[in-house]
Amino acid sequence: MSLKVLKFGGTSVGTVESISLLKGIVEHEAQTDDIIVVVSALGGLTDRLIATADMAKGRDEAYLAEVTAMQKRHHDMIDAIVAPHRQESLKQYIDAQFADLSDLYSTIYNEQRASLETMAAVVSFGELLSSNLTANIIEGAVWKDSREFIKTETRHSRFTICEDLTAQLLHDAFLSVPHITVCPGFISSDCHDGHVTNLGRGGSDFTAAILAAELGAEALEIWTDVDGFMTADPRIIAEAHTIVDMSYSDAMELCNYGAKVIYPPTLYPVCQKKIPIYVKNTFHASHCGTRIVNKIAALPSSRLSFCGLSSMKEISVLSIKGPEMQGVYGLHRRIASCLLEKGVEILFMDSSDDSISLIVRDAACADAVGYLHDEFQNAVRNGRLHPIGARSGLATVTLVGSIADSYDILRERISAVLARAEVNPILYHLGSEHNSITLVVEKPQVQTALNVLHREFL
Ligand code: ASP
Ligand code: MG
Repeated sequence: MSLKVLKFGGTSVGTVESISLLKGIVEHEAQTDDIIVVVSALGGLTDRLIATADMAKGRDEAYLAEVTAMQKRHHDMIDAIVAPHRQESLKQYIDAQFADLSDLYSTIYNEQRASLETMAAVVSFGELLSSNLTANIIEGAVWKDSREFIKTETRHSRFTICEDLTAQLLHDAFLSVPHITVCPGFISSDCHDGHVTNLGRGGSDFTAAILAAELGAEALEIWTDVDGFMTADPRIIAEAHTIVDMSYSDAMELCNYGAKVIYPPTLYPVCQKKIPIYVKNTFHASHCGTRIVNKIAALPSSRLSFCGLSSMKEISVLSIKGPEMQGVYGLHRRIASCLLEKGVEILFMDSSDDSISLIVRDAACADAVGYLHDEFQNAVRNGRLHPIGARSGLATVTLVGSIADSYDILRERISAVLARAEVNPILYHLGSEHNSITLVVEKPQVQTALNVLHREFL
């Protein structure tokens, strides 16, 4: 039997209905393969654990009722789906966990603060609980504790994975692979003292990817609540359809420019080992979903082919230009490092001989202009640069696919179809991997732009 890793996100373990579907899917796949199930916390629980900590920190006693409500949600799930003979012991386990969680909250309440370690402990309950619940509804499933083999160290207040140690511990823990294993996603522990840590928000995908890559799984399946990657956001484009096969770099590009199905960097270990990733819908399991592979069979280089559109709203464009821009010492590097140091995310950057455009979120725009103004005030004063320009309330539209050498032709074709629809992009940008073209438009034009491009290319 070969091994598959199946990761189920919060919506797939959020309700009695969804967790029953999960059970069916796992049992079905277990007929032919060994299975490792990685689960997120019950949908919305991580946010709620954090919000409750904030309430406690702010001395709002209503946090107590929140804890009770979260505990009840788990009890209700047990009543509805766990076999009667297992309910008692599972409830005891859940109650013991909630007693620990309550202690943490009361410490936060008393101290009116929560350290990084305390918060990591608070959020860890979500996956501990959901994974135990899941292990108790699947016949023969073995629960394994991810904290024992996923190790991190803390750098600049962030938990980063210790790859070698994790690989070694993981192999030890899975020397013999049970037929069905259930592991909590997201949580890990410190490589020095063992305190609980995590892989960051959305980190269950990473847990699953590490397991699949290290144990040489045949496939990684990400079970979510949509039919895989779509050619566009189906809430915006009615004709959007599933992308059946796509390359890892195209998936990455769609996500870089706004798609939210998965967070591809976390899936890198799997891609590197050329293990296929399937994105599937728990609520529509018969649908093929999307298969993501390292590379899809090469197309003749002359042929353009497209896989999807993504889009981001509330975007600003900052422009840096001036009569003697070339003479400003270390311009590109200084722009990037000045904003990076202040924590402003540059979504992408586009430069030509006489100007540089920086694309940032509207929320970061005013700060970014201020920082750049400070950095380049001398160059502005002596006339080499114009004052930093900014335009907000914009949106991006990105077309992903194999563009290769056809950028100029494609750009002309895009501007022609958009012109017919009276959309005039402010800027065009070729992605760094040459598999995307992004245009920036006025926000009210984004829907039209998406519609015409979808019709034309997808
Ligand atoms: N429960 C965690 C979160 O909400 C991890 C995950 O769902 O992947 O971020
Ligand atoms: Mg997620």
